[in-house]
Amino acid sequence: MKIGIPAEVDRNESRVAATPETVKKFVALGAEVAVQSGAGLASRIPDAEYEAAGGRIVASAADAVHDADLVLKVRRPIAGELAAYRKGTVVVATMDPYGNEAAVKAMADAGLTAVAMEFMPRITRAQVMDVLSSQANLAGYQAVIDAASEYDRALPMMMTAAGTVPAARVFVMGAGVAGLQAIATARRLGAVVTATDVRPAAKEQVESLGAKFVAVEDEEFKQAETAAGYAKPMSAEYQAKQAALIAEHIKKQDIVITTALIPGRPAPRLVSAAMVASMKPGSVLIDLAVERGGNVEGAVPGEIATTEGGVKIVGHLNVSGRIAATASQLYARNLYAFVETLVDKASKQLAINFEDELVKATVLTRGGAIVHPAFAPKET
Ligand code: NAD
Repeated sequence: MKIGIPAEVDRNESRVAATPETVKKFVALGAEVAVQSGAGLASRIPDAEYEAAGGRIVASAADAVHDADLVLKVRRPIAGELAAYRKGTVVVATMDPYGNEAAVKAMADAGLTAVAMEFMPRITRAQVMDVLSSQANLAGYQAVIDAASEYDRALPMMMTAAGTVPAARVFVMGAGVAGLQAIATARRLGAVVTATDVRPAAKEQVESLGAKFVAVEDEEFKQAETAAGYAKPMSAEYQAKQAALIAEHIKKQDIVITTALIPGRPAPRLVSAAMVASMKPGSVLIDLAVERGGNVEGAVPGEIATTEGGVKIVGHLNVSGRIAATASQLYARNLYAFVETLVDKASKQLAINFEDELVKATVLTRGGAIVHPAFAPKET
């Protein structure tokens, strides 16, 4: 079994899909691993560490992938990369397929078996493979670090000889994996933390971290979680009631961190320009949903926008990639845990059971066609 690890081509991508730790494990499984020179540099991994782990350093992405049975990536291969792949290669990456149907088709046309790690079911067996959780957790942490560095005041209450400094007020919107880590991190830094979510289950989790829960808790709220544990889109009426409550609350906040997502849809707009304008100069908003359209009006992908009122809206892209060395370490472990289940230990070859529920949930393209039910052409 040949595994290829090309460098990421997106200039915003600092992560890498394999680390020396996972290369060593793949080699122990019987694989030959080719790593493109420099693939790990942005995650502080020099070529020599991959070599010491048993990997082979190759000069180009084409050298890493052209004869690979399996290619591991952070992001899906784009048009310019696909020519180097041979038909039948299995590519495991975060595929970001919603809204990118042409890119999915291009992978099908190239004959790849494209596996989308973000579709891994959230069941106990697959927790160790859950890239959404591992990366969202780090993004939630990094959001608070970014907020603290953009904020020109202290976060904790400080009692000094020169007088007392009040604690910063941090409001976290969306208390999923990223939001809960943001709450915990802001609490560790001494902020006074409140949080909101549309899923009732989030209330207890928020409170267990020592933050106060803020939401309109009506009948619709009590039904707002899908069987898979995700948020449902809320009615216009609920959103209006919630917005009125949030508008009052946001005025008093120093830092707002938004993380709200709904799978397969644009991010819900939670903070209006008027709400931003109601905040004090020097306040900071971090929009972790900016890549999905943004929770905050005025958030610009990849930029820090400052309003006329002196409020900063931070729209960093790929926030887990801002803590790349750790993000790569966890992402690579997620991939190893999944790939290990695809390998026949006796023959040391890929032996994918396409009936396995994890495989069924994640395979997007195979044999020249789009096979995932969410993207396959509908029969008429
Ligand atoms: P996500 O990234 O899809 O969304 C982030 C948060 O935004 C969610 O908590 C969601 O409810 C919230 N949100 C959506 N619309 C909102 C709105 N209008 N206002 C406020 N908040 C809004 O979610 P996630 O972090 O992937 O977590 C989703 C669920 O999956 C959670 O229940 C989480 O605990 C669960 N989970 C389970 C497992 C597992 O069992 N293996 C692993 C990870 C997460």
